Amino acid sequence: MIKVNHLTKRYSNFKNSKEGVIDASFEVKKGEIVAIMGPSGCGKSTLLKLLAGLKKQDSGSYSFGDETKVGYVSQEYTLWPHLTVLENLTLAPLLNSQKKLKTLQDEAKSFLSRFNLIDFANSYPKELSGGQRQRVAILQAVMNKPNILLLDEITSALDPELTKSVLDLIRALAKDGYTMLIVTHHMSFAMSVANRVIFLQKARLICDQDSAEFFTNQKNKEIKSFILDIARKDEHIEVFKGLEQYQAYHLGLMRRLPKKSTIYVAGAVGDEWVRPMGDLYEKYEKLRIKKEIVWKMVTY
Ligand code: ADP
Repeated sequence: MIKVNHLTKRYSNFKNSKEGVIDASFEVKKGEIVAIMGPSGCGKSTLLKLLAGLKKQDSGSYSFGDETKVGYVSQEYTLWPHLTVLENLTLAPLLNSQKKLKTLQDEAKSFLSRFNLIDFANSYPKELSGGQRQRVAILQAVMNKPNILLLDEITSALDPELTKSVLDLIRALAKDGYTMLIVTHHMSFAMSVANRVIFLQKARLICDQDSAEFFTNQKNKEIKSFILDIARKDEHIEVFKGLEQYQAYHLGLMRRLPKKSTIYVAGAVGDEWVRPMGDLYEKYEKLRIKKEIVWKMVTY
């Protein structure tokens, strides 16, 4: 659905020319979710902005499938401050589609209900938390019926609890069949939602890999050290011998930990780590939410 051919963008000012993206080529199939990762300044945002049409490339090209509409959401504040949440969601489709206001309001309300935001329909953006604003911003893009969503660092400013709500929203949208390119430095987020990871370094695409393979079987030394950086910040990694030990450990830990603690989970396949918790997961999660404990995924 997305084809990118030798896409290149250099920034120039009167002193020097900075590299944005050099010679990037890749494809994304319909319904695929691709995480774009890499060190700060490597060109992730530039790549997404090129695809969103917000910047013009110097050379190379990209194409989308037929009748493709692209939605773009960035970390920047994209809601109109003087409009309510409902008005923010309906404004663009009201101008761009034949639909009546009432129809669009109903559509917007059903999205808001689905993502637990209905109570804020008549609130103004400044009355929302960062995570709520970000979810509304994503829904604002979704209201325009895009088939491709380009998401630029949407979780970077959020704490883990809010990140989870945005993550759940993205997962739900993934089930709706959107094709997505997601720029993120949030490792667990990428691990849990992406089918593939594209890694940029110094403006060049140096890796395009299945995400499980990317995180668990990384051959490239520099990428591996990038991944390990997360683990290095870690205080504690547990290795478990069996399922029961794993479950008992997590549940016991959750009971012991003081409120508002952070726990680190070593794992390699995204949120698959909860699977071994089996029926105990619900109990675990309820306790976690009650105690406002956050967990962070680390990889090894
Ligand atoms: P990332 O999203 O990976 O952090 P960016 O795409 O934002 O990286 O930036 C890539 C490089 O291009 C950086 O060195 C950045 O400083 C530079 N750059 C980004 N935007 C501009 C701009 N408008 N003018 C000049 N240089 C820019």
